Amino acid sequence: MISGKNTIGNKLSKQGDITFKTFNPKENKPTEWTFYEASSAEINEAVELATSAFKIYKNVTGIKKAEFLEAIATEIETLGEELILIYCKESGLPEGRARGERGRTMGQLRAFAALLKDGSWVEAVIEKAQPNRDPMPKSDIRKMLFPIGPVVVFGASNFPLAFSTAGGDTASALAAGCPVIVKSHPMHAATGELVSSAVIKAAEKTGMPNGVFSNLNSSGITVGQQLVKHPKVKAVGFTGSIAGGTALYKLANERVEPIPVFAEMGSINPIVVLPSALEKERDEWAAKYASSITMGAGQFCTNPGLVLGVKSKNLDDFITTLSAEILKLEPTCMLHPNIYAKYNEGKKELSGQNGVTVTADYEKDVGANEAKQTILNVSGADFLANTKLHTEVFGPFSVVVSCKNTTEIETILNHLEGQLTGTVLGSEDDLAAHSNVVDALQSRVGRILFNGVPTGVEVNSSMVHGGPFPASTDSRFTSVGTSAIKRWVRPVSFQDWPNKLLPQALQNENPLGIVRLEEGSYTN
Ligand code: NAP
Repeated sequence: MISGKNTIGNKLSKQGDITFKTFNPKENKPTEWTFYEASSAEINEAVELATSAFKIYKNVTGIKKAEFLEAIATEIETLGEELILIYCKESGLPEGRARGERGRTMGQLRAFAALLKDGSWVEAVIEKAQPNRDPMPKSDIRKMLFPIGPVVVFGASNFPLAFSTAGGDTASALAAGCPVIVKSHPMHAATGELVSSAVIKAAEKTGMPNGVFSNLNSSGITVGQQLVKHPKVKAVGFTGSIAGGTALYKLANERVEPIPVFAEMGSINPIVVLPSALEKERDEWAAKYASSITMGAGQFCTNPGLVLGVKSKNLDDFITTLSAEILKLEPTCMLHPNIYAKYNEGKKELSGQNGVTVTADYEKDVGANEAKQTILNVSGADFLANTKLHTEVFGPFSVVVSCKNTTEIETILNHLEGQLTGTVLGSEDDLAAHSNVVDALQSRVGRILFNGVPTGVEVNSSMVHGGPFPASTDSRFTSVGTSAIKRWVRPVSFQDWPNKLLPQALQNENPLGIVRLEEGSYTN
């Protein structure tokens, strides 16, 4: 039963006057529920509660926090078919995707629980005292990572579960020891409310402090702005547009106390096709890319939106096959009429640019909010001269650039903005022969792939999902995988501190049995 209320710690609340509805894009009509946008008083209450909860939660042991995260996963599973039905209703995404994303969300929570049980993630470093060191005695100095404070998480439109209420940002912040206030995405507020109920049940069952989690509804940008400006909020996680992410980043930096905003934003994920790639497997790559470009109606941040190859008969044949293959696929429903409208605007604008040829544009009639897939072709010179062609069109859309030679590909890569991923298609010999192109690509991305498609993002300890601006606001961090926890912590050094009063992770006896860097050597 969806109440439409805000979740403020362990109570539901509706004090505000502004109401809104979510939308069923498949049926092209609003859903049955009414949601209450959080009022200023409710925003303040959630942040104050999170601040009080932080005093307790930051000292909760890793084992207890792991129990909490595992309990959230179990409670999400317990939501059963209702969650799947509501997810599909609010997003227009198919049931298989809902189940897959729910599995990933639970998997992320359990992966952070495992990280906490191991405990070594706190990066304990110990340099012991040398009282007799000449000419100056050396102090005992030990450091480890500590949680930063209450974190605001902006739910993402395109991942109602895995990048939203109890998604990767929330799981990593809770794992770090930070209370979380979610700014629920207005396109899937019912999904958010259900998942919030699971988080609260888990918090109550595992004895977590009230306020460790809140979920606030909003229908416009003011709730998010107030949260980012609130002096007691200490960091922000965001997934969405470049405009939204940079606006919040600016806001956070204008505060009296600036705070980090980890925004994962736009990317066109360039694919560099080296000449030998199209000699043997041209048709296979065309079919794989047709499917990658259209996956989830193209609403993936790792969607391949740009293909760079050298003009040749092979590249022309690749474009013909890619265009034919993509037109064989049935268009699918986008998340919301606004995203659908933005997609159509974007593809119209780019299709009309100088030198652009539309090589595929789905022409048959489609259902409500179903995105017609599109492939454009343009020369390297026209692409270089026009940065509009470098912008993300969020949807089943890609631009193939026919370059004069690999030097022109390198020049284009050097002019591109930061990207989440970059892919090279070719042979190992190609890689060696075009190391300058590969270097140029690597310098623009957070993840570089060899002979693959970038759409699948593994959640593990070696994944980087981030990249130079505007792919993300801080390319030193990832928003996917267990390293995402590093966004919500800061190091603290203890100098000459009594052993028994040190955090356990730093005590001489290593009671937690974690891996530590002691006097320059890793040991447990
Ligand atoms: P969005 O417009 O960036 O919004 C994301 C969230 O941020 C929303 O909750 C929105 O609040 C909030 N927000 C946006 N601008 C803000 C501002 N200036 N101040 C405070 N809060 C702000 O993204 P979206 O709604 O998910 O989708 C819109 C477009 O974003 C898509 O068409 C696509 O182009 C892009 N997008 C890209 C990715 C990617 O991974 N590359 C993912 C998702 C979306 P309200 O909704 O309450 O206004």
